Amino acid sequence: MRSEADGSMPHDPASLLGRLDTLARCTDGAGVLTRLYLTPAHEAAIRLARGWMQQAGLATRLDAAATLVGRLEGSDPDARTLLIGSHLDTVPDAGRYDGALGILAGLAALERLRDRDIRLPFAVELLAFGDEEGVRFARTLTGSRACAGTLDAALHLASHDAEGITLRDALSAFGCDPDRLGDAAYRPDRVIAYLEPHIEQGPVLEQAALPLGVVTAINAASRFIVTVCGEAGHAGTVPMDSRRDALATAAEMIVATRGAGLAWPGVTATVGQIRAWPGGVNVIAGEVEFSLDLRASTDALRDKACAALFHEWDAITAEHGVTHSIAPGFSASAAPCAEDWQARLERAAIACGLETKRLPSGAGHDAMAMAALCPIAMLFVRCRGGISHNPAESITGQDAELAVDVIVRLLEDLAAEGIR
Ligand SMILES: [Zn+2]
Repeated sequence: MRSEADGSMPHDPASLLGRLDTLARCTDGAGVLTRLYLTPAHEAAIRLARGWMQQAGLATRLDAAATLVGRLEGSDPDARTLLIGSHLDTVPDAGRYDGALGILAGLAALERLRDRDIRLPFAVELLAFGDEEGVRFARTLTGSRACAGTLDAALHLASHDAEGITLRDALSAFGCDPDRLGDAAYRPDRVIAYLEPHIEQGPVLEQAALPLGVVTAINAASRFIVTVCGEAGHAGTVPMDSRRDALATAAEMIVATRGAGLAWPGVTATVGQIRAWPGGVNVIAGEVEFSLDLRASTDALRDKACAALFHEWDAITAEHGVTHSIAPGFSASAAPCAEDWQARLERAAIACGLETKRLPSGAGHDAMAMAALCPIAMLFVRCRGGISHNPAESITGQDAELAVDVIVRLLEDLAAEGIR
C-alpha cells in the first residue's frame, strides 16, 4: 500500500480509520488498492468485515449477490429493520474511504451502543455491497438492486468481465447461488429506511468548513454519444469560408455545453471523450464523435437543461453547414432522499453540536437502487480537496468520528420517536 496521503502517523488499528487502513490491504493490485466484485480481494474484505461484525455481536450471512449482511436484533421482535450500508468494491487504484467508510461507520455506531448497553427496539442490518462501481462487469449496483428487488437477474447474470467470465459463473465460483438472487430482496413493509454514510467526493463541505453534509438527492444523470458529420478536405486548399469542419463545430458545441452547465444552477454538463476522423494533421475533420454527461438534481431540470443545450447545438451545426445526431446512452432518474430523514439527520447533528449543510450528490450510490425499496438517507463526510477515485482520497479521523456520533444519536432518536 502507499503511505498515508497526508504523511501522518499510522492510525490506531482499533479506530475507524485504522480499520479502513487494514481493509485497504485487501487488494488485487500490486501496490495499489483495486478491489473488484467477486475477486480474491473482495473475498478477503468480506472475511475481515465479517470478523469485525461478529466481534460486535452481529449475526452475519452472505446473500446470493455476495452482499455481506450483519444483523443486530432489536428488543421488539415485531419491529422492522433499519438498513445501514455502502460498498466494499473499489475502482482500480482507488482511495480507501469511498464505500468502506459507510459500512465501518455504521458498525462503529452499533459498537458504541453496545458499549453503552443500549439496545434498540428495532433490528439493524449492516449491508456491505460488492458491486457499486460497476468496474468488472458491464452492469452496476447488482447487490443493492437485488436487495431492493429490482434486479433484472437474466440481464445481470449474462454480463461478463474482460476475460469473458459471466456474472453467473463468477457468483457460483464465489459460493453464491445465482438462481437465488430473488431471495436477497427485502420486503418493503419490513424495512424502516436505508442510511448510507459516504465521503462527499466533492469540495462543497471543505469550502463551507463543515465536517458533515445531509444529502438532498442523488442527481439524475443522462449520457449521450453525439456524432457530427461535416466534410473532410485538404487543410491547405479548401478556403476557410467554404469548409464544413466537423471538429471546429464540435468545439463550439463543447463550449456551449460548458456554458449550459454554468448557466443552469444545479446542473453539470461534461464532455469527457472526443474522437475525430480521419484524424490527419493536414485534413479537415469530416466526422467527430463526442460524449455528453449531463446531471441535475431532478429529472425535470436535467431534461430542461438537455433540451436547451440541444437547441443551441442545432443553431451551431446549422451555421457550420454540418449535421449531427444524438444517441442516448445510460440514464438514471434522480433519487431524492426522504425529507423527514434529512430533518432527522440534521437534528441528530445539532444534538451533537454540529452544523451541517444540505447538498445533492453528483455521484451515484447504492442508495439510488435502495430508493426503490424504502426511504433513503445519506450522510456525507468532508474529504480533502474533494478528491475521490484516487489513492490521494483523504478524510480526518475526527470527521469520521463525528459521523459516527451523528449515526449513534440518530439511532437513539429513532428509538425515542417510537420508530418500530
Ligand atoms: Zn462509493
